[in-house]
Amino acid sequence: MSATFSAEIGPIKGFTLKCVHGATKHHFDTFIKAQTFLQAEKDEHGGTGHLAECGDEFCEAMLMSIEAVEEDPSPAVRVSYHNARHLLDLLGYGHETSVVGGSDTAENFLGRVLVALAVNPADAGVPATSSKNAGSPEMIHCGRREGYSEDHLEALREVANFAASRGRAVQWC
Ligand SMILES: [Zn+2]
Repeated sequence: MSATFSAEIGPIKGFTLKCVHGATKHHFDTFIKAQTFLQAEKDEHGGTGHLAECGDEFCEAMLMSIEAVEEDPSPAVRVSYHNARHLLDLLGYGHETSVVGGSDTAENFLGRVLVALAVNPADAGVPATSSKNAGSPEMIHCGRREGYSEDHLEALREVANFAASRGRAVQWC
């Protein structure tokens, strides 16, 4: 499970098709055109998985989905839920927001990133540990590498600058 920080979605220039591995080279001006194309392929071939370009057997058996293509796609920072919680804590959002979804204006978000970069000492990292109580399975607590926080705060600063320059909010979900 992961969470992604990015600018909110911007203007759409068209639509493409995608499997879990990524988008195909198809391009449609409108959602309806993409949908009509998929329906025709489904009628003719009994499915749409053959359109996938990844060569994965699993995808060949699945249906393709339609994805919007942005004119000006945002940089994105994708992290585990656990690390998203850590970053939101560093940004001072504490528990006022959920890792599952939240947003703020680019200016507020950028201000918090700059404060977090200024006040947090270098991240020394956290080693992975495990614990086990009698009768329950062993729990592995994933660690965090040294320098993780600084690197990710810098990446979040890029997201915030991008969002601010386009008048878009920053979101995480
Ligand atoms: Zn695929």
